[in-house]
Amino acid sequence: MLIGIDLGTTNSAVAIWQDEAPQLVPNALGEVLTPSAVSIDADGQTLIGQAALERMATHPADTVTSFKRFMGTSRTVKLGKRTFAPDELSALVLMALVSDVEAQTGTRPHEAVITVPAYFNDRQRKATRRAGELAGLEVKRLINEPTAAALAFGLATRGDREPFLVFDLGGGTFDVSVVEMFDGIVEVRASGGDNRLGGDDFNHALISLMEPRIDPHGLLKTIPADRRAAQLFQAAERTRRRLSETDKAEFAVALADQRLTAQVTADEFEQAASDLIARLRDPVARALRDCAIDAASLSEIVMVGGSTRMPVVRRALTRMFGRFPNATVHPDHAVALGAAIQAGLLSRGDGLDEIRITDVCPFTLGVDSAQKDARGTLLTGLFSPIIDRNTPVPVSRIETYQTVSDNQRQLEFEIYQGESREVSGNIALGKLSVPIPPRPAGEITADVRFSYDSSGLLEVDVTIPSSGLTRNLVIVSEDDRSDAMGLEQRRAALAKLKFHPREATENITLMARAERCYEGCIGDERQMVGRWIADFTGALERQDPRQISEGRQQLAGLLDQIDLHAPL
Ligand code: ADP
Ligand code: MG
Repeated sequence: MLIGIDLGTTNSAVAIWQDEAPQLVPNALGEVLTPSAVSIDADGQTLIGQAALERMATHPADTVTSFKRFMGTSRTVKLGKRTFAPDELSALVLMALVSDVEAQTGTRPHEAVITVPAYFNDRQRKATRRAGELAGLEVKRLINEPTAAALAFGLATRGDREPFLVFDLGGGTFDVSVVEMFDGIVEVRASGGDNRLGGDDFNHALISLMEPRIDPHGLLKTIPADRRAAQLFQAAERTRRRLSETDKAEFAVALADQRLTAQVTADEFEQAASDLIARLRDPVARALRDCAIDAASLSEIVMVGGSTRMPVVRRALTRMFGRFPNATVHPDHAVALGAAIQAGLLSRGDGLDEIRITDVCPFTLGVDSAQKDARGTLLTGLFSPIIDRNTPVPVSRIETYQTVSDNQRQLEFEIYQGESREVSGNIALGKLSVPIPPRPAGEITADVRFSYDSSGLLEVDVTIPSSGLTRNLVIVSEDDRSDAMGLEQRRAALAKLKFHPREATENITLMARAERCYEGCIGDERQMVGRWIADFTGALERQDPRQISEGRQQLAGLLDQIDLHAPL
């Protein structure tokens, strides 16, 4: 069986081709979206999906999300005792989706079509293919997400040269593409966007608005930073989703023996998000300009991605085009459905071919730098970007830096890849130092040139104009660990991980949620949740299916009444 998979940064989904139509397959919780989250619990068992996501607030160090951002890099993540490469984390999500299909159809699928962002370069595509193989899948085809989305909206049933604009606003990325079909070949005519703009940023805008309101005295500062961030994030996520449905919602966070809450209106939220909304326009204009298609000649404007459910986004899009976007397919489902349509076509032997677009540099590249703040304090460890992500390759850029201390004897440049403001959050690629004559701070300058080509080769040249001295470093993008350890070995290692049985998913997820509530709530309520957890643990230990099912319903109902951040 050939299945279609949307392997997303925030959520993933799987669909099959059945009775001449694509059909989404629910997971063990009955949901068609599976959060792309992995966590390792205290017994060393691996959790995937909602259960893992619930643990983000209580066990941030053992939980990981958004690993799709690191596909094709050598960055690894340590969870519990084990270190995971990004393709292995993706493989775990794929394995969960495969077992969902097996549970639904009774057959274990061995072949898949997997979608990737249009801007993914060769290394990221290879890493995705490898993730499939690690999950025991033969990856028949990788197709671009906008292509899949356009297929779900009926591109293949239209005539030649009917351009679709695909507007995909997900959890962390914004992708705009113009997709067209000609002679049975799908072409992504243009693709752009902003890989730092998505629902998460709207959460942060809401947090900036609400944190001073609920916590004017900075009480939350007493919680460890990662937990505080996770709590505020979950509060914002829930409030923001409510605001997609209603005009007013509560923003609430629990702290020790109090509950910090405040109301927020949709208008206030939209005001707070207006800078983000403004950033939607440029990438759309650029994509249209790149393919020389004017907005009026677009056959369809289609909305994809969970964040297009925000009314403010829909209105912005309608205003931008002077017409309503097509919303006939659920924005959360379009990519997986399109992947299944391609799977259906492939199994009939007439899969659609695609033309790839030009490569871009997928990450920002830059150097470590120091800056003086307004009062003259030296801030170090800041990332200074030289080549911005999504710049078409090959590309060459120069930035000029100057000394920050008097009589400095050398200038040292550490080279980093990533999007974090501080270099500690980015990946170190190499180091280059140049001797300089001792002079007062600011007097010596250095030109740093970065040249990046399509094979992922980064060349760094540093020149000191005053002395004419130059230094050069070539950084060959090290391939990720796949070569060091064979695919077979890695697959075997993944297969050895311990998983809870599928039937336990609901209980495990509920327990993770209960623990999150326990940690998040207060005084008497906390004791109450503690007792509920003990009751349910008792039921689980007695292994009586009826007691377990009753206990589960009861616990879920009780949690619903007190859970500030219940999934909607
Ligand atoms: P990705 O493609 O990054 O995996 P998705 O397309 O699944 O992401 O979108 C996830 C985002 O959609 C999250 O930021 C989530 O907050 C947002 N989202 C989902 N449902 C809603 C809703 N009802 N209202 C507002 N935002 C939503
Ligand atoms: Mg997506």
